[in-house]
Amino acid sequence: MPRLPAPPFGMSRGLVLAAGLTLIVGCAPAADGRGDARLRVVATTTILADWVRNVGGERVQTDSLLAPGEDAHAFEPIPSDARRLSDADLILAFGFGLEPWLADLHAASGSSVPLVEVSEGLEARPAAEEEGEHGALDPHVWFDVRRAMAAVERVRDALTEVDPPGETTYRANAEAYIAELEALDEWIVEQVATLPVERRKLVTSHDTFAYFAERYGFVVVGSLLPTSTEAASPSAQDILRLAEAIRREGVPAVFPENVTTGSLLNQVAEEAGVEVVGPLYTDALGPAGSPADTYLGLMHFDVETIVAALRP
Ligand SMILES: [Zn+2]
Repeated sequence: MPRLPAPPFGMSRGLVLAAGLTLIVGCAPAADGRGDARLRVVATTTILADWVRNVGGERVQTDSLLAPGEDAHAFEPIPSDARRLSDADLILAFGFGLEPWLADLHAASGSSVPLVEVSEGLEARPAAEEEGEHGALDPHVWFDVRRAMAAVERVRDALTEVDPPGETTYRANAEAYIAELEALDEWIVEQVATLPVERRKLVTSHDTFAYFAERYGFVVVGSLLPTSTEAASPSAQDILRLAEAIRREGVPAVFPENVTTGSLLNQVAEEAGVEVVGPLYTDALGPAGSPADTYLGLMHFDVETIVAALRP
């Protein structure tokens, strides 16, 4: 089969996609009676599915188990989710404990296809509530764009592993997307630089911004819920303690999130006398047409919202 040369760096996405289409039309294996020769990839969350779409292009049919706005920590799979896994050629997850329900679902599906965790090999932070203990890791790696770039390389490698003829396409698409992520990372650094250091303080619904804080120079003053939202319900005492920390640290605003519901953060803000701004999009993309219907859109929206709210 003819191999396409790797497109030069900076080649337009359209050309890269066209190259992918040529490969499919020219030499994709015959479909197994389902009328679609594309590789079927199931990603757990909408953020990961967006990365797969960017790297897979037209060669890949991408599906996410969770819907926009859905909370991965507390997700409860239904039987049709097992069927979605058993129909897939490749299953991608974040790992680091984001999807505690996935191992059981994978076993229930009877699927023998690879389940790849894209956080594997990344430097992990311990989950805040587990600091000093063994075990739980903080899964919110996508909030450090440099870790996101490494995870996108793992997406590329996983696709290539199950679909070797797509290697050229996946490599070119990943290169183009990682260039966009590099630009995003630089833009965030520039935006944050406009904030006085003493204003770079975050309070959110759950503890999702530790990687972001580490990379871009924020302090996470606190959150209502720990790193995982599972089975956690803050007490009146927790609310008062967080409000106290907000006053003590001079935090200008607090940010609810799209994946958590409830008005408890409003109570915290009222108690502390600060503004509620958001919601931010955190563990899941927003619905199609929202400013956060892609990972790039999500990061732009969150950073603009945070910087505007914390600016003096
Ligand atoms: Zn989370």
